[in-house]
Amino acid sequence: MKSKWVEELAQTLVCEYEKQGVSEDMALRVYSCRLLGQDPALVLHGGGNVSVKTTASDGLNDNLQVICVKGSGWDMGDIEPPGLPSMYLDRLLELRSFTSLSDENMVAYQRRSLLDPGSPNPSIETLMHAFLPHAFIDHTHATAVLSLTNQKNGEEIISNLYGTRVGIVPYVKPGFDLAIKACEIYTSNPDVEGLILLNHGIFSFGDTAKESYERMIDLVDVAEQYLSKHGRKAIFPQSELPTTPASAAEVLPIVRGLLAQTTSEASQTVILDFRSNENILDFVNGVEVERYSQMGVMTPDHIIRIKNKPLVLAPPKSDCLDDFRKHSKQSLEAFKNHYHKYFVENDAKSEADNQELDATPCVVLIQGLGFVGVGNTAKAAKVAADLYENNITGIAGAEAIGKYETISSSELFEMEYWSLEQAKLAGITEKPLDRKVMLITGGANGIGSATARLMANAGASVVVVDLDVSKAEEVAQSLGNDSIGLACDVTNPDDVKRVFNAACETFGGIDIVVSNAGRTWQGSIGEVSLETLKESFDLNFFAHQFVAQCAVKVMKSQGSGGALLFNISKQAVNPGNNFGPYGLPKAATMFLMKQYALEYGKHGITSNGVNADRVNTNLFADGLLESRAKARGISVDQYLEGNLLEREVLADDVAQAFLNLALARKTTSGVITVDGGNISASLR
Ligand code: ZN
Repeated sequence: MKSKWVEELAQTLVCEYEKQGVSEDMALRVYSCRLLGQDPALVLHGGGNVSVKTTASDGLNDNLQVICVKGSGWDMGDIEPPGLPSMYLDRLLELRSFTSLSDENMVAYQRRSLLDPGSPNPSIETLMHAFLPHAFIDHTHATAVLSLTNQKNGEEIISNLYGTRVGIVPYVKPGFDLAIKACEIYTSNPDVEGLILLNHGIFSFGDTAKESYERMIDLVDVAEQYLSKHGRKAIFPQSELPTTPASAAEVLPIVRGLLAQTTSEASQTVILDFRSNENILDFVNGVEVERYSQMGVMTPDHIIRIKNKPLVLAPPKSDCLDDFRKHSKQSLEAFKNHYHKYFVENDAKSEADNQELDATPCVVLIQGLGFVGVGNTAKAAKVAADLYENNITGIAGAEAIGKYETISSSELFEMEYWSLEQAKLAGITEKPLDRKVMLITGGANGIGSATARLMANAGASVVVVDLDVSKAEEVAQSLGNDSIGLACDVTNPDDVKRVFNAACETFGGIDIVVSNAGRTWQGSIGEVSLETLKESFDLNFFAHQFVAQCAVKVMKSQGSGGALLFNISKQAVNPGNNFGPYGLPKAATMFLMKQYALEYGKHGITSNGVNADRVNTNLFADGLLESRAKARGISVDQYLEGNLLEREVLADDVAQAFLNLALARKTTSGVITVDGGNISASLR
């Protein structure tokens, strides 16, 4: 690990911030905080914290001695000055004379010490920053350091390696007690460059931002050098794997389905983030995976996001997927029972009023394949996967030099159920389509992109499928929720299979499929060529069948229901002149929708359609809109507003109908008409 400090860049930031009235101390604090936060070997997802002691004004008095500590809700990698709320230092220092302080009082006291009462809550490690005397203090959960401390003889390894360069702090839960303990150890040797907190992380400090930052890098580098000298020998003897391994696309929907909690009223699915590479496979395929993976997380900060342990599943064989499902179900039940036992045992020893958390694992190791991070949203799944991948590196490092050990289960419990940790997860309200994956064909334009956007706003992670891949990617990018864009010719069944596989590999499965891609063909039915009819049937009927076939296969594999949605057309029930080549396959698609409703209702899969009409999208391109209006002897505006409500139908109106049907759990074989009102095209 090398210093990434570039004086020129640091000074540029100082100048930029000076214009906004931000002090040099704060500018440099922000600069090195970001350097640390952008390195996953040091800090991940809101972990770690930093501080600076400086002077500030509270509007009444100038030149006040303050400490600015990272606030909750901010990531070190992209911190800004408001992410480092200022507190009156002298007030915090008054706490040093206390012998004990409850967490609630500590948090309240920290809030009362803020210069700006509107600031975010300062870190729960604030007092440690306040009690140490240095101007700049950095704290990370460096992976390499944890590989060394998370050993039976962790303290001895650290002491031999660092000598008097660091003070060694035994494991104490963060908060007041840790601050007092760390300070005591620092005072016994004030020449140290930092403190190593066993089973937790590392602090470095200095008179300047640069000194503190470079000490952190140097100290972590020592650990990294030590680990690389001891090499990554055959750390994990590998277990034997099946000769007919199953693919991720086959296996992930099964795993996703097992983790879902489905009732007739709701289907609480999850999003999976699948990871696999050589290091991950070494780890999950190790014969001792049940030992080292079940010891616990590397640093207590991770426990609220990935729980203490992952679920381990035996390797799946492609010809015995039912066996895999059965065994995995048993393993999951055992995992949940185990979690319940862990709760009951530790709750009995705890004085707090703990509520048992959901026992669903946040990480699942699948031997032979890799692992998945599990979350209610794509973002939460990614956080879990990032943290676990980091744990794999740390545990592998620890196993290379000895045997991985963690703090006790009751200490981990204390951290997992600590109200101050749980507070980090509070306040997240779920959207109706969080936990859901939607795939839409023809998603790059018109009704397709409007529907993709509405579903994404409702929380869904979207797979935008279109012939035009760059447009599909552009739409996906704008949707958020880690949505992806994929190229696909829906008239080609192999291409359709490919995008469904990709969706399963990306999110673990699919809940909602909108079969939307379509195009118009015209011609008088008595004269139209067979070729034209076949072309229209290929896209306006057979493609819907390919898509629906792939969809129900994934949905059945998950066993958590699903929603099939077809963009049909009013032509299916109300033919227009010269529109036979378009209306015929659409009528067949309406029947197809009913057939799926009939045969897949028992699997909890709904099948519905939308009959839209006269929506001004690129379906009406190349003069078609003008020609349809002319065919009726009216203007384009009259044509678009020529309905009972006299309102033009927009792509967003059709999207709303798809969203309503996606959410309707007790409607199947239904058609919603979105045409502004047309009695001849109305159903029954
Ligand atoms: Zn920490």
